[in-house]
Amino acid sequence: NYPSSPTYFILLLITITRLISTVGNKTEHLHNNFNLSPDLISRHNLNDDPESLESASRDFGNLVHHLPRAVLRPRSHYDIASLVKASYEGPVPFTISVKGQGHSTRGQAMTRGGVVVDMRALREEISKNKNKKNIRVIRREEGYYGDVGGEALWADVLQEAAEIGVAPASWTDYLYLTVGGTLSNGGISGQSFKYGPQISIVNEMDVITGKGEVVTCSSHTNSELFHGVLGGLGQFGIITRARIALHPAPKMVKWEIQGLVEGLSYMPGFYYEKNVSYVEFLNRVRSGELKLQSEGLWDVPHPWLNLFIPKSQIMDFDLGVFKNIIFKRNITTGPVLIYPMDRSKWDNRMSASIPEEDIFYTVGFLHSSGFDNWKAFDAQNKEILKFCNDAGIKVKQYLPHYTTQEDWTKHFGPNKWRTFLERKLQFDPRMILSPGQRIFNND
Ligand code: FAD
Repeated sequence: NYPSSPTYFILLLITITRLISTVGNKTEHLHNNFNLSPDLISRHNLNDDPESLESASRDFGNLVHHLPRAVLRPRSHYDIASLVKASYEGPVPFTISVKGQGHSTRGQAMTRGGVVVDMRALREEISKNKNKKNIRVIRREEGYYGDVGGEALWADVLQEAAEIGVAPASWTDYLYLTVGGTLSNGGISGQSFKYGPQISIVNEMDVITGKGEVVTCSSHTNSELFHGVLGGLGQFGIITRARIALHPAPKMVKWEIQGLVEGLSYMPGFYYEKNVSYVEFLNRVRSGELKLQSEGLWDVPHPWLNLFIPKSQIMDFDLGVFKNIIFKRNITTGPVLIYPMDRSKWDNRMSASIPEEDIFYTVGFLHSSGFDNWKAFDAQNKEILKFCNDAGIKVKQYLPHYTTQEDWTKHFGPNKWRTFLERKLQFDPRMILSPGQRIFNND
C-alpha cells in the first residue's frame, strides 16, 4: 500500500527536511550546551519540560522564538548567582538570559540553548513569604529611598511608596515592567525631559557579574560596574537590588493639556482635563492593556521601532519619515509617541547611547500587527532606518536590536564601544550574560 508517487515524493521531502533540521538543532545544542549536563540541570533544579521551554521562548514582540535548554525558577538571588558561577567555572560556559517580564520585542531576554532565569518566579516566591520583601521604603536624614529587587515591578514599587506618600521622580509610561529590565535599557517617559531617565535616579545596586560574584556598586564604589550596568542591556551583570531615590508625591494631579495648547491652534474635541490620583495617572496604560487582553489583542506581534533623533534633524525626519514613508505606506497601527529629551539629564558614563545634541526627540512607533502582516511593518521600520542612514540623520535606537558588531559599534560610537568592550571583558569575560541582545553572541 505505497502512496501514489507524487504524495510519496512529498512525504519523502518532508522527512528529509525534518531530519536535516533535527541534526541542525542537535549541532546547535552541542555547540551551546556542552556544560548543561543532566547532572547540572538537576543540581540547579532547572526545568526542561516543554511548557517551560516554550514559555521562555516568547516575548511581547512575538517575532522571535528561541528555545532555551532549560529554565531556572529562582527562589532566591543565591540560586541565580550559583548558576552563573557554575557556567563561569565550567569547562565550557553556557549562556544565561534573565527574563524580567519578557516585554522586549526582539528576543533580547531569550537564549538559544542556554538557561533563561525567570524573574517572575522569584517575585511570586517572595510574595508568598511574609518574612521576605523585595520593596523597602527607607527614611534617612537626607530623604527617602527605596531598596527594590531587580525582579520587582514598577507598579508594585509605586504602590508601596505611595502608601508612605513618596515616589520615584522618573517613570516609564507603562508600569508592569521590571526594575532590572528598564534599568538595563534606560526607562523613559514624558517626565524624562525634566527628571531624566530611570537610570539617573539609581544610587546603588547589587549585581551578580558574569563571574557569579555578588558586587555592591555605586558611582563611588565599583563605579565601572555601576555605570556599565545602567543602560548596559544586561551585558555586565544581573541586577538583584537597586536603591532608588524617592520624593514626596502628590496625592492628586490634574491630567490636562491646557498649558501645552496655549498659543497653539487645536481642535477643541481633543482637549481634556480631569483630576485623578497620582497613582491612577501613572498607571494610566494598565486599563488599555486589560482591555486588549480581554479581546485577545495583547499577544499579537509587535514590530516596534523606538528612535532618538537629534533636534537639528527632526524636520528632515518629519519630512522623510512622517510625510513620506509613513504617509505613503499608510499601514501604521498603534500609538506613535513623541517626547523631547534633555541630554544633560543623562549621565554619559552610563552605557545608554543617545544622540550628541543637547535636545533630542524620542519617536516610538508602537505597532501591533497580525501574524500574517508583521513583515510589512518590519519592512517599514527598515525603510525608516535606511532613510535616516542615507540622509545622514544621526538616530540612535532605543531598545536597540542589531545583528552585526559593526552596527553595534556604530550604535555606541568608537569611544563608548571601547568602554563597553572593556567592561564586558572585565565583568563577563566568558560572554555568558544576555546573549539575546546579539552583541557578543550570535544568539
Ligand atoms: P525583559 O524584556 O524581560 O528584559 C530586557 C533585557 O534586560 C534583556 O536583555 C534581559 O536579559 C535584561 N534583564 C532583565 N532583567 C534584568 C536584570 N535584573 N538584570 C540585568 N538584566 C536584566 N520602556 C520605556 O523605557 N518606557 C516605557 O514607557 C515603556 N513602555 C512599555 C510598554 C509596553 C507595553 C512594553 C511591552 C514595553 C515598554 N517599554 C517601555 C519597554 C521596556 O522598558 C523594555 O521592554 C524593558 O526591556 C523592560 O521589560 P522587562 O522588564 O520585561 O525586561
